[in-house]
Amino acid sequence: MSLSSQRILVIGGGFSGMAAAIELRKQGAKVDLVEIDPGWRSYGAGISLGGATLRALRRLGVLEAFLAQGNASDGVNLHLPHGPLVATLPTPRIAGDDVPGGGAILRPVLARILAEATRAAGANVRLGCTFAAIDQQADGVLVTFTDGQRQRYDLVIGADGLYSKVREAVFENAPRPRYSGQAVWRAVLPRPPEIETATMWMGPQIKPGVNPVSKTEMYLFVTEPRPTNDHVDPATFVDTLRALLEGFTAPTLQAIRSQIGPDSQIVYRPLEGLLMPRPWSRGRVVLIGDTVHATTPHLASGACIGIEDALVLADELAQSAGDMPAALAAFESRRWERCRMVVENSARLGEIEIDGGDKEEHSRIMRESLMALAEPI
Ligand SMILES: Cc1cc2nc3c(=O)[nH]c(=O)nc-3n(C[C@H](O)[C@H](O)[C@H](O)COP(=O)(O)OP(=O)(O)OC[C@H]3O[C@@H](n4cnc5c(N)ncnc54)[C@H](O)[C@@H]3O)c2cc1C
Repeated sequence: MSLSSQRILVIGGGFSGMAAAIELRKQGAKVDLVEIDPGWRSYGAGISLGGATLRALRRLGVLEAFLAQGNASDGVNLHLPHGPLVATLPTPRIAGDDVPGGGAILRPVLARILAEATRAAGANVRLGCTFAAIDQQADGVLVTFTDGQRQRYDLVIGADGLYSKVREAVFENAPRPRYSGQAVWRAVLPRPPEIETATMWMGPQIKPGVNPVSKTEMYLFVTEPRPTNDHVDPATFVDTLRALLEGFTAPTLQAIRSQIGPDSQIVYRPLEGLLMPRPWSRGRVVLIGDTVHATTPHLASGACIGIEDALVLADELAQSAGDMPAALAAFESRRWERCRMVVENSARLGEIEIDGGDKEEHSRIMRESLMALAEPI
């Protein structure tokens, strides 16, 4: 059924919110999207995308743009800290035989691709704007915006991320983000010719990796245990990141280390997670993406499950013949187990890395999670 009589508000213009706007416009809904950042910027270096994410991008209609502006490749190479290759994790071609099983792209580039698709789909995007009040009524939701406008909606989608104000306003007992005890450093660097796919060096507690984001660039990520979530002075970023890689004697990694400098766009991020217990909707307000299930990046699947939420929500709304409670219940039951798996398995991988724990368990969880992600949504 077409959603052409429905008016839907998306709060938050990240990957999940943009995907929701694109898919709901395809179903004919009138979609407003409000994004609090007047510049609609995306922070961070690169982002790794698995085969399931590429499948979701294909359905959104932006796979070609990703392949042209990012990098796609097969397999993840695992090395010892001094260099030897120990294994190559296969990455199944989930998006189709013609598309490699994974890839990466600069975050601002992916955000721009999705922003262009959101506008092209006909969503009404308002930047520098958010909700001031959400008032659930019998036949809709009355939303007052920070610019003074008011509008009635059939559905409001909270996609405003880990520190969501929609979650806070609508779910008074919702959990808060929890610090994982691990932090990640990321930087953008020139890509040496030998780096053709995602590549990691398995230190006992520190795990550096690189992933090509284009023909000429790659991003570096380094996870490290940090018992407390204290401020780190940006003036120390270059020296700290270089020091973390000191003990890795692999010649390729040492060459990469020598490239780290003030122009490397270094981003430091303490890792937090959140899994909101069900229900994920109240009345006509539903939460998607990091707003309800923010994962640490160990399976590189946070963006994936957020974008998939948008696809499944649009499917269920289109199939429900106007029965909103049934659509929201069906959405949640299709999404819960997959999202729980990603958040909890990622958290466990982080714990094993912090403790320098069981490598067998680590690779078993990686393998099982990658297989589960290949399942249809
Ligand atoms: C260090 C790190 C590395 C990661 N690496 C990967 C990876 O390699 N692969 C992967 O798939 N995932 C990765 N992730 C996860 C991924 O980044 C997130 O899951 C994804 O960005 C979530 O998208 P989202 O749209 O749900 O939320 P967000 O990206 O947080 O977007 C929320 C949007 O809402 C806006 N907003 C906030 N408050 C309001 C408000 N009150 N009103 C209106 N708008 C608002 C924000 O400005 C933002 O645009 C990583 C995460 C971290 C922390």
